[in-house]
Amino acid sequence: MTREKGPGKNKTEKKTNETEIREKETPEEEIREEEELEAKRRGLVSSLAYLGIAEEVLNALLLVPRHEFVPARLKSVAYVDTPLEIGCGQTISAPHMVAIMCDLLELAEGQKVLEIGAGSGYNAAVMGKLIGKNGHVYTVERLEALAEFAKTNLKKTGSENVTVLLEDGSLGYSDFAPYDRISVTCTAPEIPEPLLEQLKPGGLMVIPVGEYFQELVLIKKDKNGEIFREVKGRVVFVPLIGRYGFRDR
Ligand code: SAH
Repeated sequence: MTREKGPGKNKTEKKTNETEIREKETPEEEIREEEELEAKRRGLVSSLAYLGIAEEVLNALLLVPRHEFVPARLKSVAYVDTPLEIGCGQTISAPHMVAIMCDLLELAEGQKVLEIGAGSGYNAAVMGKLIGKNGHVYTVERLEALAEFAKTNLKKTGSENVTVLLEDGSLGYSDFAPYDRISVTCTAPEIPEPLLEQLKPGGLMVIPVGEYFQELVLIKKDKNGEIFREVKGRVVFVPLIGRYGFRDR
């Protein structure tokens, strides 16, 4: 193919063509695309069964369309088990990591959950399915663009029991404390004291700890308020940046 026009012009033309193609997508094609994505989702979820994840968690993963939580250009790879870029240098966690964290938290109907790091809103949506209509997820995000991204994604997928809050989540979120469960989806230098305080006696928290060497830690607070910690394995997360986190660089 001969290319006579400059790169700038070509780019504009390509964009126009893509727009035209998208506009021309018929309802039948849209339905087919949705069906293909759903088949990929089922394939991914069954491939996670080997991890020994609870049935409820796998069902919740089936109910949440991850492709609605990634930038449009990444839709086709939304069901590959890997983290994906969501802008601002941040990532949506890999599905197996979401599954493992939800599994460790033993999420159940009616619980009040705090998430630190809303990102795309995907993990919050999955937790929302596990705690049902009578439960609530409060998810805190420090970057405004991502808080808006999460809100949009949660709205279009009908996740009504999830609230996105724009704050420094290393301080927790005292307005709705204490929480039955806390899920931290960014890595902390050490476990932030406010999060330990805002966890209910009998509650559970999962949190990655460390910088280059990170470990996923499960925290249990017993009925008397005593704290127990268990290391669950090595992980890779983006940093928790804030007062009880890392410094912004
Ligand atoms: N749970 C997300 C993954 C988010 S990645 C999802 O399902 O898509 C981690 C997120 O933590 C990033 O969006 C980052 O901006 C956010 N983050 C980092 N430090 C934070 C802080 N102190 N408070 C709130 N969010 C924070």
